[in-house]
Amino acid sequence: MDCIICGEQVVNENNRLQKKVKDYLRTTSELDVKHLWIKQWKICYGCSESYTNDYLVNNSGVLQKIEEQKQRKKQLVKAKRKQGPSGVARAHYIERYMDYATCKAEENGRYIAKPARLINSQQYDEAYITYVKSSASTAVLIVRDMAEDIDTKGKWIDVRHLEKRFLSHDEGDFSFIIAELFSRKQKPIYPKKMAVETDSEYKNRIAYITWQTATADIDQQRTQGIKGDVYIVLPSLRNEHEGMYDKHYIAWDDKRRHFKRIRESDQYVSIIKPARWRYDIVAAKKINHQQLRYIEKNLSKIISKTHKKRAVTLAAFSPQNPQKKKESTPKEKGG
Ligand SMILES: [Zn+2]
Repeated sequence: MDCIICGEQVVNENNRLQKKVKDYLRTTSELDVKHLWIKQWKICYGCSESYTNDYLVNNSGVLQKIEEQKQRKKQLVKAKRKQGPSGVARAHYIERYMDYATCKAEENGRYIAKPARLINSQQYDEAYITYVKSSASTAVLIVRDMAEDIDTKGKWIDVRHLEKRFLSHDEGDFSFIIAELFSRKQKPIYPKKMAVETDSEYKNRIAYITWQTATADIDQQRTQGIKGDVYIVLPSLRNEHEGMYDKHYIAWDDKRRHFKRIRESDQYVSIIKPARWRYDIVAAKKINHQQLRYIEKNLSKIISKTHKKRAVTLAAFSPQNPQKKKESTPKEKGG
């Protein structure tokens, strides 16, 4: 306890102070204000010596001092409340905040390619909805936007084969993509934006019409025996924020009894940064239809080859070259 007059902490004065109270009670049956305060540890021994009861009760200077001490104490309690619990309890609440924030960060970084939000999905057929939600739509974006060596201008991209990386948990992590590019023979006819439509609804409708045209055009060309240019693309999925952390400034929320993130604070915790995914294109190579037939015939063999190493190379897609083997023999002998 702190003395309400001088603010000094009342410590190790218990015996001396209580003796004062006892002595006082010997002469009277009732405690005056001064001795009541002494009994309640409200004033220190020093102050109890300096002031008489009358002086304490009537002197405005002392009363003001007491008022100031009261205010100071109130503020201290308030500041302490703001800081929240201490010790083990504090560690517990901080740990809970960290669990929560880490979970949230992982959730925020979950989407590798954010699936397009389909507004009014009842307007679209099942095949389109499946396509948008599938990995194939992500693969098309990789071939179109990230494989810079492939010129996709004026082409439809048809994903012929899509292989998820062996043992990877990430939905959009592919070990290879084989895509066939068809010239756009049919042109989609885009309607005008309707007055009742929002921008994103209109965008949705346009994307849907594009997909319908592409699907029909590719189907027709296939029926006619037309073959497009075929490419193998080897993407490599990477988290640009791997091993990075964010400083979360936190403060105690006394109402909800937990720590919460705020803009500025003198204390912070380190929380994993939400993943930011990007694809590096390891290789993109045009192949002819003879090579494509070889790949499709030996697909399971090729896939099992890609399971052996995380880094897939184009070598996995061609028959093993016996000449190359011979070339490496002298090296082995020499070493
Ligand atoms: Zn005092």
